[in-house]
Amino acid sequence: MSDLVTRKIPFFNYAALFKSHEVEFLEAIGDVCRRGAYILQDDLKRFEAAMREFLKVKYAFGVADGTNALILGLRAMGIQPGDEVIVPSHTYVASAAAIHFVGATPVLADCLPDHLVDPASIKALITPRTRAVMPVHLNGRTCTMDPLLALAKQFDLQIIEDAAQALGSKYRGQSAGTFGAVGTISFYPAKILGCFGDGGLVMTNDDAIGQKLTMLRDHGRTSEGEVGCWGTNCRLDNLQAAILLVNFKHLGAAIARRREIAKMYQTELSGIGDLTLPPAMNDDTHFDVFQNYEMESGRRDELRSYLLERGVSTLIQWGGKAVHQLTALGFESSNLPRTELLFQRCLMLPMNVTLTDDDVSYICRCVRDFYAER
Ligand SMILES: *Cc1c(COP(=O)(O)O)cnc(C)c1O
Repeated sequence: MSDLVTRKIPFFNYAALFKSHEVEFLEAIGDVCRRGAYILQDDLKRFEAAMREFLKVKYAFGVADGTNALILGLRAMGIQPGDEVIVPSHTYVASAAAIHFVGATPVLADCLPDHLVDPASIKALITPRTRAVMPVHLNGRTCTMDPLLALAKQFDLQIIEDAAQALGSKYRGQSAGTFGAVGTISFYPAKILGCFGDGGLVMTNDDAIGQKLTMLRDHGRTSEGEVGCWGTNCRLDNLQAAILLVNFKHLGAAIARRREIAKMYQTELSGIGDLTLPPAMNDDTHFDVFQNYEMESGRRDELRSYLLERGVSTLIQWGGKAVHQLTALGFESSNLPRTELLFQRCLMLPMNVTLTDDDVSYICRCVRDFYAER
């Protein structure tokens, strides 16, 4: 027991992450600063080209952050006041806020046992005002897209994918973010590919939307420098792009490591107590990158304190509330039973590349001890 209490496993470890490639980071930062290359420079162009190739998408623009990526995407799709956009309630408030900030109404849908949006719930919420659906590829898992694509086709709805948590995640071999009219990524520091501040990406395969996005993120300016429409300033800093290029070199290894950790959790925790683990990896249609490891327990709060007493920090996604439970935002609908149950049960174990095998075994041992002892 005494060796247990001395252990400390933070949920995330920014300092360790920096240290793991410190020399490369400092070189990249120094290089950008010596060139004075700060706005819309070469590093950003190289990073966008790398993203287009990695995601196999025609247009990809670095923008200020993942939330603004959604706002620009919705604008470029023509979403406007009076429109309704259906989005899961189990998401970060940013997904719904982006819809709000283009003047449209976010309509909140329930989720499936895999924690992702339920197409049947979406279908029940469609009205004559519904213009688009925003699937959110949570925790590094791409939504099962076939039924969502069929639904969108049937009701003539556009799709904008919030892939903030899912860079590199795939469904049937195709990258999250590339199925709909628009897809977005976040480079928040704790995301799969993080920068040293805020950053995001907005992508599309549609030429007209691509042209609009070029202008929207840079004061309405076309690639020739003419003002073609009202725009705003929503550019990804060139310095952040340089840092992202460093991290991108390690992305493949980072994804492989996350999947390895998920596999360890899966092996060591399956069949323990009343735990419900996230979908296993032996599935040919989904390639998960495990941004998070979100499991469920009927004694979630007790388990959480037990782990904390043993030095293991866990997280309840988004402060323990789904979007429709954020009463300050004026939501009334509360008939989302699966989402509500999930928020009583969900708990995220540490999941990041700074964890050692030993850390993961220790965490699993603590979880098993909890169920053995109580
Ligand atoms: C992180 C996140 C966002 C917002 O991204 P920012 O870069 O922080 O603006 C949006 N949606 C989801 C699901 C996220 O996890």
